[in-house]
Amino acid sequence: MNSRYEAVIGLEVHAQLLTDTKIFCGCSTKFGNPPNTNVCPVCLGHPGVLPVMNKKVVEFTVLMGMVVNCKINEKSIFARKNYFYPDLPKGYQISQYEEPICEHGKVEIELKEGIIKEIGITRIHMEEDAGKSIHDHSDATLIDLNRCGTPLIEIVSEPDLRSPEEAYLYLTKLKQIVTYLDICDGNMEQGSLRCDANVSVRLKGESKLGTKTEVKNMNSFRNVERAIAFEIERQIELLEDGKQIVQQTLLWDADTNKVLPMRSKEEAHDYRYFPDPDLVTIVVNDEWKSSISKQLPELPDIRRERFINQYKLPAYDANILTSSRQLANYYEQILTVTNDYKSASNWVMTEVLKFINDSKISIEDFPVKPDSLGKLIKMIEENIISGKIAKEIFPEMISTGKMPEQIVAEKNLVQISDTSEIESAVEKIINANPDDVQKFLAGKEKVLGFLVGQVMKETRGKANPKIVNDILLNKLKR
Ligand SMILES: [Zn+2]
Repeated sequence: MNSRYEAVIGLEVHAQLLTDTKIFCGCSTKFGNPPNTNVCPVCLGHPGVLPVMNKKVVEFTVLMGMVVNCKINEKSIFARKNYFYPDLPKGYQISQYEEPICEHGKVEIELKEGIIKEIGITRIHMEEDAGKSIHDHSDATLIDLNRCGTPLIEIVSEPDLRSPEEAYLYLTKLKQIVTYLDICDGNMEQGSLRCDANVSVRLKGESKLGTKTEVKNMNSFRNVERAIAFEIERQIELLEDGKQIVQQTLLWDADTNKVLPMRSKEEAHDYRYFPDPDLVTIVVNDEWKSSISKQLPELPDIRRERFINQYKLPAYDANILTSSRQLANYYEQILTVTNDYKSASNWVMTEVLKFINDSKISIEDFPVKPDSLGKLIKMIEENIISGKIAKEIFPEMISTGKMPEQIVAEKNLVQISDTSEIESAVEKIINANPDDVQKFLAGKEKVLGFLVGQVMKETRGKANPKIVNDILLNKLKR
């Protein structure tokens, strides 16, 4: 980025709430049901029906507002946002406009270790989702209204972000919070978390904001970063060429890594917001607020500190392990079986995370359950198997779902700690490698590693390496 400029970025994030039923009717929000089966006259927008507010939606939104330090407004109202779209059967979306439920919050992001930046939250409001248009038929567009009326919150940030990286960190932080609160699954690829960015650039030192554009359609965390970076560069180039920036909505195209303008007609909406006459004012009084606050779980920052203190983990480990509630839970469930905190952390941070990242699954879908991994670690601790064997059978635990003790028994992998058995293997190796023994005795200590390796090979990796080392040294130095 041209160093004479700075970017000004604000994000609008939609999070789909994990309620069982929709926001204004009793239809299921279950994902993946056959099209147009989770519907009723209310969410289909039939004339004469009345919406009924889902209490859980208010509670989830208030929880979010509390965590990001928002003022929770005692009174808030719903408004109709009018526009025509085939997947919006009512012809309007019920949202909040004036008088949203939460305002004036902030979250902290960590730019570098120890360097914290505050990002303002303008507002959080509740709204319903629209249905889905499916364009994969050549001669028709199909409409699935299952998603109509699914509850959303929209979290609007202040234009406090100054780089694509900051936007990425902010979004990651929001995901961490909603998943800790268990109010949204945070999955961007599946659309349960969606992000639009308002981007403008200006010369450094300038206080007036430049003309902004809105970038939509970024369906992964990395795409948010890439799309914003692209848009910043595009705007700077225009200004450097003495051209004007046109206020418009742009779509990110992940295939070409470019932003493309949306049809300009779609931007000129006048939504004609007005208060929805079918819904009463939402009143969150002190009593309700205090009962909601009792549902607040242990939040990521506090949990990270506890991991450092209680399990004596390095900050680096604690950061990764508490990055999501599910991962932190997985780690702590391992500790119901073993007390080797650091070893459990190492296994999660290397073997487990590598597998779930490579196969793009979530920790909940990881085939090795935490008690099973805990048993594996305990078997190393108790010298039943070596760490090397453990690493070897772990892939089999993943592919078969078997418990480690079963695999160890089936393959006869129990570690040999019986010294007489190891002694005979050591003698065999000493006799077979007289040259190397000579080298070692002449002072080449590195050869020891080779000899240990030979003994391990001889015992098919089952010998306790520490005992091998001790016996070998003992015999060589005699
Ligand atoms: Zn319904």
